[in-house]
Amino acid sequence: MKAFAMLKIGETGWIEKEKPVAGPYDAIVKPLAVAPCTSDIHTVFEGGVGERNNMILGHEAVGQVVEIGDEVEDFQPGDKVVVPAITPSWNTREIQNERHQHSGGMLAGWKFSNIKDGVFAEYFHVDDADMNLAHLPENISLESAVMITDMMTTGFHGAEMAEIEFGDTVAVIGIGPVGLMAVAGSSLKGAGRIIAVGSRPNCVKVAQEYGAHDIINYKNGDTAEQIMDLTDGKGVDRTIIAGGNINIFSTAVKITKANGNIANINYFGEGENIPINRAEWGCGMAHKTIRGGLCPGGRVRMEKLIELVKYEKIDPSMMATHVYEGIDKIEDALLLMKDKPRDLIKPVVKM
Ligand code: NAD
Ligand code: ZN
Repeated sequence: MKAFAMLKIGETGWIEKEKPVAGPYDAIVKPLAVAPCTSDIHTVFEGGVGERNNMILGHEAVGQVVEIGDEVEDFQPGDKVVVPAITPSWNTREIQNERHQHSGGMLAGWKFSNIKDGVFAEYFHVDDADMNLAHLPENISLESAVMITDMMTTGFHGAEMAEIEFGDTVAVIGIGPVGLMAVAGSSLKGAGRIIAVGSRPNCVKVAQEYGAHDIINYKNGDTAEQIMDLTDGKGVDRTIIAGGNINIFSTAVKITKANGNIANINYFGEGENIPINRAEWGCGMAHKTIRGGLCPGGRVRMEKLIELVKYEKIDPSMMATHVYEGIDKIEDALLLMKDKPRDLIKPVVKM
């Protein structure tokens, strides 16, 4: 089969690979729509997770089941499915006392385009189909469905880790698709004022649609100063980081009130250590909680997010600014994600 792969750090290309085969609990899926992720860019061009050779890229897909293992109960060939970016092993020891994202080891729930071949191919393999696939309802478009697999679960996880309470002031730093979903998730969680930090006009417009009240352009001056001015020197209750490099932590620590939470959903592809300001962190005593997390995956998470789309609490398809047709367009879509033209939020490739 034909597939688009990371050949080595810094290099991508089309390759031929054997079509995968389903084990007893697994499924083989033919993609109907895929989307490249900024994480694919960190992985290939920054070597974020280390060297990989001829590994098929991509972890965001909606597809049709073409083959199932003998033990799979709830899915049949022909079923349309939402496939989470995170497809953990559900029978490990860690699953009983840790988050499923780390079942089998740190970040090991993230299999596609990390520790196994991804979804940018004619077919791909899904572990433990009954636990990792979700049925795609009729009334959800492919554009919306593919956003659920990663962008929505990640952005919403930012709102979850930030532990937003009714009426909180929330800053979302970085409003690409992940940050936009963090804005939408914060809004659904009951945030009062939402301050979004970004610069691309399309993203700003969609951020406002998803519930942002104030927009800070980080290119117009120091973000922390602008947010402190906007909040009369008080800062915000919760900060969600969805953009920027490792230095963005300084900004987050500065703007978050004592006893506030900082939730990072960014993937830092470069840098050794992440700096935290000593004084603004209350010399270590400010009760500012910092969390960082990989998005939740698995079947139930997808089913719950699907409910939000199905019952029109959110329309994630607004982020699909560039929609392509045909597997050959995957390369163009990935390069868009690398170059980030100003009118881009997220490309989708329908197969
Ligand atoms: P994106 O590049 O489209 O969006 C990030 C935005 O942040 C960009 O618009 C960029 O201009 C902006 N930015 C850069 N520096 C900034 C600064 N100093 N202040 C404010 N904004 C700044 O990326 P995305 O697709 O939205 O993804 C965001 C991050 O989330 C990526 O690092 C991606 O790898 C990561 N990610 C993590 C998970 C997870 O499970 N935690 C899942 C998917 C993606
Ligand atoms: Zn991703």
